[in-house]
Amino acid sequence: MADTIDSKNIVRTRFAPSPTGFLHVGGVRTNFYAWLLARRFGGKFVLRIEDTDRERFVPGAVQSILEDLQWLGIDIDEGPTAEELKRCDPTYTGSFNYGGPYGPYVQSQRIERYKEVAERLVEMGYAYRCDCTPEMLKKEREEQMARREPPGYSGYCRTRNVPADTKHVIRLKIPERESIYLDDAVKGRIVWDKISLRDTVLLKSDGFPTYHLAVVVDDHDMKISHVMRGEEWISTAPVHILLYRALGWKMPVFCHLPSVLGQDGKKLSKRHGATNISAFRREGYLPEALLNLLLLVGWNPGEGEEQEIFTREEMIRRFTIENINKAAAVFSYDKLKWMNGVYIRNMPQERFIKEAEAVCLDAGIQVDEHRLRDIAPYVQERIKLLTEVPDMVKFLFVEELERDYGTMFKKGLPPDMSLKVLRVSLEKLEGIEDFTVSRIEETLREVPQELDLKVGKAFVVIRIAVTGQKVTPPLFESIYALGRETAIKRLKEAIEEIESEHYRAKEG
Ligand code: GLU
Repeated sequence: MADTIDSKNIVRTRFAPSPTGFLHVGGVRTNFYAWLLARRFGGKFVLRIEDTDRERFVPGAVQSILEDLQWLGIDIDEGPTAEELKRCDPTYTGSFNYGGPYGPYVQSQRIERYKEVAERLVEMGYAYRCDCTPEMLKKEREEQMARREPPGYSGYCRTRNVPADTKHVIRLKIPERESIYLDDAVKGRIVWDKISLRDTVLLKSDGFPTYHLAVVVDDHDMKISHVMRGEEWISTAPVHILLYRALGWKMPVFCHLPSVLGQDGKKLSKRHGATNISAFRREGYLPEALLNLLLLVGWNPGEGEEQEIFTREEMIRRFTIENINKAAAVFSYDKLKWMNGVYIRNMPQERFIKEAEAVCLDAGIQVDEHRLRDIAPYVQERIKLLTEVPDMVKFLFVEELERDYGTMFKKGLPPDMSLKVLRVSLEKLEGIEDFTVSRIEETLREVPQELDLKVGKAFVVIRIAVTGQKVTPPLFESIYALGRETAIKRLKEAIEEIESEHYRAKEG
């Protein structure tokens, strides 16, 4: 890359979403790389909304895309102003406001500019007006199919000089029998021997540009140095190359990124699991973990390098186009989960407590900060997803427990023995002077010993009595976090519940 990135060339990359849906894994991966490249070289990351396909426009998509980017920490240097965003989508209620020297950054607000460029191409002879009706095009296509020719526009209007005041489209004249190549920074040289493209529409009859015209004009006008996009766009590159050539504009460096696949080797889609970014957030993933995994889905740190966890600073410092993989890469949900666990464990405790409080609140649990603080370290080291927190800690914050007696009697001990364990435990806990974790442990360890029971089984009984459930943070720490009074109250409740159930069973 030495010839394209040096101190004189300012790196400017862009994210150009179409508001036709929500942000998904593949899109984020591409734009995360573009962002990394800009950050690596102290450049600019530009956001541009490509909303010329008004039929597929989804209200609310712009806002959700921006919110997801913000959650991911992918920050934007230039992009639409608040006013441009509002004009683009009247349902928009966000507070984003970027701005920059090359606005507007919303394509539907740049229509005049595309028109001007299209007219210039007509004047220069690279493009022409075409007034063929949809019926004529349909008939032409049917005839081509009948002759077993590949369908496409015949170029009928190329020499007709269609006047500007009739309803028309503007088409690019695609040279025949010319070979075109692209030196892609990721894929290497790609050659199109004979362009099979037919004269593509640049400007539609309603005055709106097609993707080809708009993307070339905007990447040029916004001084984009590197175009990063998914490899599914490769087939559009010849048209773009011809446009740059006709307009005499310098081409940006193209980096077509390999596809993101699911674990079965097929292109990643909803079938594989969540693909929308907001779903990852809801499911308890951290943005850092998601980005770290995406870094490795398509990029590698170099031969023999085993490092998998990268800080944000490391990612920026080490990212290079050279190490982007040429082949498609797999997005593994298992690996993401593992990575998320690593990030949760490495998180500063204060942040963990904040995150834990937030997920509990989402799950309808009002936490007591004191108790949460006592238990947080033990939860933090046990979970892979933030959404596991509420189930693990809810025993600390509910008044009434639903005890899993089925498990108590099956995995622990039968009712009679469970009762014994609980009565002795109660007596012992009531006798403790200093209610500390080590004291609680010491005392409760005497219980199975005295009753000559297996430790594990006796502790299942105690655990379910005081927390209601089988899986919790460690037992003694959980009892400590509950506090002496509540722990004793819960043991008593369990004893009473078993006793009454038991007698009822006997009477029956
Ligand atoms: N607007 C296109 C999309 O939504 C972007 C294509 C490009 O990056 O050139 O994917």
